Amino acid sequence: MHAITRRRLLGAACALPLAAGLPGIGHAQAIPDFAQLKAGYAQRLRRILAAGTLPYIDVESSCNSARVDVDAIARSMDRLSIGLMALSADIGRNQFGRGVRFDDLSERLVARYPDRFIPVGNGGQPPALTEAADEFLQAQEAAARKKQMLLLGEFEFCHYPSPRQAKRGEMDRDVRIPLDGPAGHHLFSLSERTGLAFQIHYEIEDELLGPLEAMLERYPKARVVWCHLAQVRYIERASHYTPAYVDALIRRFPNLHFDTAFGDAASVYPLSNQRHARVWAASGGLKDEWRDLIVAHPGRFLSALDLGQDRLDRIVEYDQKHREFLKRLPAETQHRVAYRSAWALLFGEEFS
Ligand SMILES: [Zn+2]
Repeated sequence: MHAITRRRLLGAACALPLAAGLPGIGHAQAIPDFAQLKAGYAQRLRRILAAGTLPYIDVESSCNSARVDVDAIARSMDRLSIGLMALSADIGRNQFGRGVRFDDLSERLVARYPDRFIPVGNGGQPPALTEAADEFLQAQEAAARKKQMLLLGEFEFCHYPSPRQAKRGEMDRDVRIPLDGPAGHHLFSLSERTGLAFQIHYEIEDELLGPLEAMLERYPKARVVWCHLAQVRYIERASHYTPAYVDALIRRFPNLHFDTAFGDAASVYPLSNQRHARVWAASGGLKDEWRDLIVAHPGRFLSALDLGQDRLDRIVEYDQKHREFLKRLPAETQHRVAYRSAWALLFGEEFS
């Protein structure tokens, strides 16, 4: 009896790390050679450009890998002349409970549409990042070492409920993990070791700026995309964040980028009742100081749609809003922000 119990216990103890350590549960085809992918991406971007349209690279969208309709997204991308998309899988509670720490959706996406999906790591969300950060990050790294991604996912270190979640009363995405705590150190060093960029969702608050600067200083080779430029949900918490502050960060930290997934001029954050996309002037145009900042450092700003599983069907509207923003920039800057910056971030060279 005693022995059986012990053996069972040992069996249970061994089963979890083994399952957790398997990076490619599902065993789809391997990701093609990156050089091959790159050639296909370039061809697609050139084809859209030749048709007289601006393609862009969406570096920040996510989905539920069991529910996503890949063909529908691919069709929309063609219809809307979206160049490439880094569509990352979020590990849901059920998957997490089964021990999944890396979801290989990218293998499926790239196998089916190799010229438009960028292989990307998983979204760093609850429960993976909040309950098993080390296991999760190890699994992402194992996949990165097997050349299964060109980019890591979006990691939510400080995340208020999204406007849609707030309206639905869902508060499980109200996350606050210290950026300078163990998970942050693991992630920044992982980026330095692999050379892969990662994205952070990090709400803009005065007290959060110090830890971010300290991490950027400590890990100068970490390649960080701070998502949602100038998306300030509570202006009273963010008196230091200005275009001048972002300009100073850009000058201090050569590996820091920003994505431009933010709402339109009328978008209101329901929990504060504030217009949270601060780049917009009351007139509906871009504020001069934000436009000037982007024009001064176009290589540091990236296109992004920030689609999620609950809004994938609104891709037309998101595309339109993003293009409304791009249109406000000078033509050359548009091309940088839309795809050249992301190309340089992914491949370490200019798009040509
Ligand atoms: Zn985000």
